[in-house]
Amino acid sequence: MTVGEAAALIRSGDVVAFATETVYGLGANALDAGAVRRIYAIKGRPASSPLIVHVGTIDMARALVTEWPQTAQRLASRYWPGPLTLVLPKQPHVPDVVTAGLPTVGIRMPAHPQALELIRASGCPIAAPSANRFTQLSPTTAQHVRDAFGGSVPVLDGGPCSVGIESTVLSLATTPATLLRPGMIPRDEIEAITGPLAEPAAGQSGHGEPHASPGLHERHYQPRTPLLLDTTPHPGRGIVLRLGHELPAGAREFAARLYEVLHSADAQGYDWIAIEPPPRTPEWDGIRDRLRRAASKS
Ligand code: AMP
Ligand code: MG
Repeated sequence: MTVGEAAALIRSGDVVAFATETVYGLGANALDAGAVRRIYAIKGRPASSPLIVHVGTIDMARALVTEWPQTAQRLASRYWPGPLTLVLPKQPHVPDVVTAGLPTVGIRMPAHPQALELIRASGCPIAAPSANRFTQLSPTTAQHVRDAFGGSVPVLDGGPCSVGIESTVLSLATTPATLLRPGMIPRDEIEAITGPLAEPAAGQSGHGEPHASPGLHERHYQPRTPLLLDTTPHPGRGIVLRLGHELPAGAREFAARLYEVLHSADAQGYDWIAIEPPPRTPEWDGIRDRLRRAASKS
């Protein structure tokens, strides 16, 4: 499929999977409530979980929100296009289905050139969650998307994702700003622009889902095979993934490879997959968050 064909589908209210630098997204015209509803149906995602809106320009972002503070401008100039989602008060024309009924909308400008081309050719902002079934592993290749949905979803192949885990999500709708989901952008770099960040309030899952009871989406990003965060042997047949061996020892490289390695281990029919816990230093925050949720039994 070409970018032009994918853009034509988006314009006609269809859903298309496309590559971003974080993970593959399941995209639809963000301003078309019917098209966005189809994303939830395909994913099996609860309506209480808001979608991120992908834009091609800062002007496109500003048209979705009622305020664009100095901090948003500074963060966007520094990190867009890139893996940072900004949550701001939404304009009334942004459908409630996109934001799960919240008065705010999460927006980012993806850095993958093909994603930017797709948004520009579609002429509209594109709402997209990760292109996997709800709670399962995120896709970082076109094949992962095909494995999840078969032929039922058209996929624009943009190669493997370079960042490899989901974006950092930052709410600028609160004072101070709140880090809703850690990603690969270092927290101290963000704080140099925003000042000290607040933690998500009780009742939020830590993934910015205030409609969900705490912990409801704790289970997330999961392989089918039970995932353990240690290197001790377990009963049955399994695989131990160690830093500097099966997985890179550097945070960026580890993130870029993580879901790919988990997808392929998951396909082997093991009884368990064990991962050596990464260092407790800030550059691993986003990775530790995803691994904790991938290993969660609750
Ligand atoms: P995913 O599409 O799986 O990357 O998840 C999107 C995530 O973005 C949600 O789980 C929230 O953490 C966050 N998000 C998107 N929109 C909003 C919003 N309006 N308010 C708070 N968090 C949001
Ligand atoms: Mg997801």
